This record gives sequence, structure tokens and C-alpha cells, in this order.
Amino acid sequence: MKITKITTWRLPPRWMFLKIETDEGVVGWGEPVIEGRARSVETAVHELSEFLIGKDPSRINDLWQTMYRGGFYRGGPILMSAIAGIDQALWDIKGKVLNAPVWQLMGGLVRDKIKAYSWVGGDRPSEVIDGIKTLRSIGFDTFKLNGCEELGVIDDSRKVDAAVNTVAQIREAFGNEIEFGLDFHGRVSAGMAKVLIKELEPYRPLFIEEPVLPEQAEYYPRLAAQTHIPLAAGERMFSRFEFKRVFEAGGLSIVQPDLSHAGGITECYKIAAMAEAYDVGFAPHCPLGPIALAACLHVDFVARNAVLQEQSMGIHYNKGAELLDFVKNKDDFKMDGGYFHPLTKPGLGVDINEELVIERSKNVEDWRNPLWRYPDGSVAEW
Ligand SMILES: [Mg+2]
Repeated sequence: MKITKITTWRLPPRWMFLKIETDEGVVGWGEPVIEGRARSVETAVHELSEFLIGKDPSRINDLWQTMYRGGFYRGGPILMSAIAGIDQALWDIKGKVLNAPVWQLMGGLVRDKIKAYSWVGGDRPSEVIDGIKTLRSIGFDTFKLNGCEELGVIDDSRKVDAAVNTVAQIREAFGNEIEFGLDFHGRVSAGMAKVLIKELEPYRPLFIEEPVLPEQAEYYPRLAAQTHIPLAAGERMFSRFEFKRVFEAGGLSIVQPDLSHAGGITECYKIAAMAEAYDVGFAPHCPLGPIALAACLHVDFVARNAVLQEQSMGIHYNKGAELLDFVKNKDDFKMDGGYFHPLTKPGLGVDINEELVIERSKNVEDWRNPLWRYPDGSVAEW
């Protein structure tokens, strides 16, 4: 079998799908994207196609290494997201050829279901509480919300109080009936992270995500040493070679590689195994579309240390499309009490409505994250 063609479609809300075709008619789907830079990743995908066209799609390990090492320069969000989507499509083809779901090809199930969590948007405590009530009614009991709005490098106690007040009201409203992680989103400086984590401790969040930016990763062990709350990070780390440094330094209790950003299934399966060796949980980042989610689920079902799965149903970013809009087999993604079950169709197990993909890719707007500024006019982290 030979790869004959690679096609990409940029789609709302901020996704990109990829289809790899073969000379035997088997096709594979992937989702290569970095939010806000879809066009850059698209260019990278098509540049990488020189390593793929005419090649045997079953040799995923060799194709991965060729894409990673063959260009001399490697790593980073653009190249690793391009590789990620291509890798997902290659696994989809392999599963379809061998008539087995991807988890089956990786050794079989290690669990029967995986807990999913839901994002809760809203800036005011009352909005967050109403959001949690709605999501509880459809079965979720685990949530994630932003831990604070923009915070100065050193900021005042009113900002800290506002952040803590939201979390306090959530605990007061729901007690221990729900759990929630708090995403600092890289907005918080190392100095303020110390303050904020300490103030939030009484409300026992499940984890604190990106307590500081990954480029300040040397603070993870230092912050971990001062708190009992598990620290999480990883959506902005793109390969084993980046994760090895945080594993060696210690401090993180959960890693969150993104299956569409960190080299795909091939790479993230290895990152999960490395995490297991360090007694670190695995909770793939996935505020993206259905192919990315399917890729995550296949790894969750073979990695014993997978603890939670992010998913984007109803997420505040999903303007213009919802998670399952392009999926024909929607029932396979149906959650049961906040849990996903293994996808059972061959390959990734996502039947894509290609006509709708083509239609909705026309004149699609480029998504950009907000650019925030402090009152003094300088750039703030979003
Ligand atoms: Mg995050």
C-alpha cells in the first residue's frame, strides 16, 4: 500500500482536519492544529508530505522518525502538530487495514471507561455555579475552570481575593459532590503563584494547571514543595525530549500532552509510559475536535496512569461548530455518567462527514486568542 494524497481543511471553530489517501482506497483522518496558527501547521503538513507520498503507511514508526529527524530542525508547536495529525491518520489507516480499533493494536484495554471533565466558563461566581449545575444535569461531576483573570507580575490582594472568592463559592455550593481543577493558564508569575496556590489550598482543587508557564518549568518543583495540591502542565510541551526535563526535575503530578500538538499517538503513548515510570498521572489536553479526542481516548485506554480526559463539548471556544458536528457515528462518543467508553470501530473509530467538512471549510475565519493588556498598556498573558 502507498500513500497517494494528503488533503487539509481548516474548519470552525478553530480546527483543521487532514485526510490521507492510499492507492488501495483506505483513507485515514487526523487533526493537526495549534489553536490560532492553523495556516502555519497546514503549510508544515504539506511540506512534510514529501516524506509521505509514495510511502507505505503501515511503517508509522519509520515515517514518524523521518518527519521528526529528516528536516534537521525539529520540535515546537508547528512541526509537532503537523506530525501529530499525520500520525493520527496513519494509525487510522492501520486500524482500518487490520480491522481493529487503535487501542487493540497497542495491546488492548487497561480500563473499561475513562472519566471526562468539562470546562466551565463564566467570569462571575454565579455564572460558574449555574454552569456547573447545567453540566451536572448531563452527568459530569468533574470540571475545570480558569483560576484567575489576568494577574500582574506582582498584583494586589483584591485580585487574589476575587480569584479565591469564586472557588470558595463553588465549594460552598457543591461541597464534595464535585471536583474541579483550576487552570492558571500561564497567567500567573512565579511570585504570585506562591500566593495564589496557598490561598486556594483550603478549597482543595483537584489540581492546578500551568501554575506558571512551561518556560518557567524550574518553578514546578519549587511550587510543589510548598503545597499539597497536585500540579499539572504539558499542553505547551511537544515531545518526550521536553517532558523528560520536567520528569527529571519533579514537581508535576499530572502531565497533559495534547495528542494534536505533541507528535500524535506514537509520541504521546511514549510520554504516558515515561510518566508512569515517574508515578505521574496522564490527562491529555483536548479542547479540540473529534479526531483529536478519539486519538486521546485510544491512548487513555492503554495507559494505566491515564486519570482524566478533557473534551470540548460546550466549551466557550466552540463558536461555529460543536464537537460532534462533523461526526456520523455520534453515539459512539456518548458519555455515561461522565465517562467515555472505548471506541470500537476499526482505526480511530470516527466516521467523518466529508461533504460537511468541505462545505464548512469554505471562507472559514481564522481563530485568534484574545490579546490582553494590563492597565499600563503592557502585554498580559492570556
Ligand atoms: Mg490549560
